[in-house]
Amino acid sequence: MALTGIQILKMLPKKNCGECDIPTCLAFAMKVAAGQAEIDKCPYVTDEAKETIGEASAPPIRSIKIGAGDTAFTTGGETCLFRHEKRFENPTGIAVLVTTAMADADIDGRIDRFKALSYERVGVIMQADLIAVKDADGDQGKFTALVQKVLDADQRINLILMSDSAANLAEGAKICGDRKPLLYGATVDNASDMAAMAKDAGCPLGLRGENLDGTVELSEKLLGEGLKDLIIDTGARTMRAALEDSVVSRRSAINTKFKPLGFPSISFPCEMTDDPLMEAMITSVLIAKYAGIVVLSDLQGDILFPLLLEQLNIFTDPQRPMVVAEDIYNINGPEENSPVLITCNFSLTYFIVSGEIEGSKVPSWLLIKDTEGLSVLTAWAAGKFGADLIAQFINKSGILDKVKHRDLIIPGYLASIKGELEEELPDWNIIIGPREAGHLPAFLKEWKPSN
Ligand code: SF4
Repeated sequence: MALTGIQILKMLPKKNCGECDIPTCLAFAMKVAAGQAEIDKCPYVTDEAKETIGEASAPPIRSIKIGAGDTAFTTGGETCLFRHEKRFENPTGIAVLVTTAMADADIDGRIDRFKALSYERVGVIMQADLIAVKDADGDQGKFTALVQKVLDADQRINLILMSDSAANLAEGAKICGDRKPLLYGATVDNASDMAAMAKDAGCPLGLRGENLDGTVELSEKLLGEGLKDLIIDTGARTMRAALEDSVVSRRSAINTKFKPLGFPSISFPCEMTDDPLMEAMITSVLIAKYAGIVVLSDLQGDILFPLLLEQLNIFTDPQRPMVVAEDIYNINGPEENSPVLITCNFSLTYFIVSGEIEGSKVPSWLLIKDTEGLSVLTAWAAGKFGADLIAQFINKSGILDKVKHRDLIIPGYLASIKGELEEELPDWNIIIGPREAGHLPAFLKEWKPSN
């Protein structure tokens, strides 16, 4: 049962020291009760209180880890229905299916594409997360050989092992060793065997209900068997049913803390259609609405990339702008006569501006000033990108030692502060750059140092 803020406060040391990054114990207790702060942030709370509060304030959707080490995949841990309420914690995992019924060339192609399709955007590497290995005909030898093949392909791959046979899953899990796979799927017919096998293997267990009610019953049964790490499949194999089940499950878990549905989900767009574009559309709906893992029939760049972009957009923290570090960035190998540009640290601005400079092939120094992730004009309006702050940054940045000239190119949108900047930086020529990053290449190619 969830604890109130006042109940949590009674278990805190009440030093009001602020070391948890929240000024008072009362405010901290309220945040813990709302699931917006972790009890571990208070270094003074006793282990006993930590356990009591931790259990009571655990996220309504349990956090489940698949794999091991730095490359482990985590799903769940969600605390809200809508990202603007707080944020979504763990992006939907995108998995590709390989089965023992496929030809070797098909399997190799899927594994190769899994490894090759990786994209960088705003400093984030985007790629598929898991490979689902399916035992299509109950042949243990074929199944374990395929598991081994996938494991050998790449040390980073996290796996979902799929079989109706608990014995086959146990053998597959053994081969995976520390790289704990998700074992799928327990049904009403094999629940006890699957529960015992998952407990022995120390792996999370996927369950497949016949419908939402059946999923609840099965989940309760597995919880009763002592399992804690479950991933649920409601058995829905149409987009409408999958969406409805997903929304009902999330609402039940968040709004009423309904434990049998308080687990991340796994969905199978690969079993809902034969049309790759329809599969992509179903996947995009499920990414937007709470899927923990989606399993695709194949990976192709033109389908995967937009799905990864959607995933990036939905799972970034809306309360925290994406930023890059304040620094001097060397682009195209600049030297002492290369142009010096300055802009804000909103990551989208950085990647657009740096991309244009890179494309211009003009060696340049790009100064990134910390504007707390605000874009140029917003930062200026908020008093975070004014002439005085820019001057302080220029003087302490170290750029003075890197260039002989004293030309500073500012964003075109900051033209109005040219005069103020000239007063703050009397040794510098302030040059107004283009308003649009797309005009930077032509501008830089024309630029010559003025002293
Ligand atoms: Fe209170 Fe602990 Fe936070 Fe200090 S760190 S204010 S004692 S909750």
